[in-house]
Amino acid sequence: MTDLTKISIADALKGLKDKSFTATELTQAHIDEMGAQKHLNAYITQTPEQALEQAKASDERYANGTAKTLDGIPLGVKDLFCTKGTKTTAASKILGEFVPPYESTVTQKLLDDGSVFLGKTNLDEFAMGSANTTSHYGNVINPWTSPNNPDVSYVPGGSSGGSAAAVAAGIAMGTTGTDTGGSIRQPASFCGIVGIKPTYGRCSRYGTVAFASSLDQAGVFARTVEDSALLLQSISGHDPKDSTSMNIDVPNFMAGMDGNLKGLRIGIPKEYRMDGMPEDIQKMWDQGAEWLKSEGAEIVDISLPHTKYALPTYYIIAPAEASSNLSRYDGVRYGLRVDGEDLDDTYAKTRGAGFGDEVKRRIMIGAYVLSAGYYDAYYIKAQKVRRLIRDDFTKAYEKCDVILTPTAPSGAFPIGANEEDPIKMYLNDVFTVPTSLAGLPGISVPAGINADGLPLGLQLVGKAWDEATLFKVADVVEKAAQFSGLNSTSRNVA
Ligand code: GLN
Repeated sequence: MTDLTKISIADALKGLKDKSFTATELTQAHIDEMGAQKHLNAYITQTPEQALEQAKASDERYANGTAKTLDGIPLGVKDLFCTKGTKTTAASKILGEFVPPYESTVTQKLLDDGSVFLGKTNLDEFAMGSANTTSHYGNVINPWTSPNNPDVSYVPGGSSGGSAAAVAAGIAMGTTGTDTGGSIRQPASFCGIVGIKPTYGRCSRYGTVAFASSLDQAGVFARTVEDSALLLQSISGHDPKDSTSMNIDVPNFMAGMDGNLKGLRIGIPKEYRMDGMPEDIQKMWDQGAEWLKSEGAEIVDISLPHTKYALPTYYIIAPAEASSNLSRYDGVRYGLRVDGEDLDDTYAKTRGAGFGDEVKRRIMIGAYVLSAGYYDAYYIKAQKVRRLIRDDFTKAYEKCDVILTPTAPSGAFPIGANEEDPIKMYLNDVFTVPTSLAGLPGISVPAGINADGLPLGLQLVGKAWDEATLFKVADVVEKAAQFSGLNSTSRNVA
């Protein structure tokens, strides 16, 4: 029988429908592989019993003709989405024992469509990081290894590193992620898979542990563009429980995937040509433009002049919102409590013991930029620059329909690199953060291999609510790149 952990979601749905295998067999194959790939540390919590129960119910639906759009598909859920009755930690000690009494809207939608949950995937603590090294539950290992350095373990990217590694390693057919400044696109690039962050407001944030509310957006990982469209279709849509989710129709994301790019204009932003960009990334970017041109697209030069302010702006706004959002972890309402002499001491002891270094750093930066003396100079200023960054995109979209850039300025780096210098770590987000500040959709598609033999992704950024065009173009990149995460020879088998 084919290895059920290597096929696509689309093929699995066909196989389930024509009874080539059952949902129970498909789920069991993934549970077995999760055992074999345990060293990757991609999951914080595994839920095999629940998964097998869900698979059994799915098999019944296939038998009686009531199967739904994702029936029987085994998925992983980033441990930032609340799952009723299953621990949700945000990779933090402070939420270590938190069992939500309710389900997030995103996960509820996936369940309503019949999918099976294998467990909760690892991430950077509260989704703060770019390497999945800040998790209280240990770092995640990228399933890819470099032929140049076979003994070195690489980071999967972050913050949704567990979600990306799980899909690349075949221990989930797809996963949910969240992207605040790049946390879906950058790990997708590092792990050689597809990751999409839709337009801000496309998916509900209800039941997702908040990091920076004006930036956080749910999205998905999968091994093919088609699979990612299937998953995003499931989780999209208005939710009355989230006032920032948009009440507009969700189109069929796959309707335009016909390989024909005639009439489409692809913008290449000159500000993304950075000094010191590795040659292999520049080459892949040029190659990407050629692929799109040969399918009929017109390549146009565009300018996003405020790009250089995006990182400093993000690293003011995101920590500011984080410091406010994380004030709720006080030892009284949620999770960990360390008793002190009095209430203030209890707060201090609980938060001191419950948060890791990176989270504390962000809370301190956030509290500083929001403090009375600095609010105008930092926070208000950053909000103004955010507007200018958004306006850059609006102007650029007068000249083009989709923007093409590399996803990240490097491929995966060895675990431990960039740890001593937080600013260096923050630089990972240089190509993804502007999109987040503007609230636009972005997808990373695997497009090449770097000099270390590790995957590299191309990023496509679309107009607001135009994910369908992103999928159309991503499909062309995927076909041209012939990059198959499904056939990865580098899959790291224990
Ligand atoms: N790496 C970025 C950060 O550390 C983005 C994280 C994210 O998108 N959640 O903030």
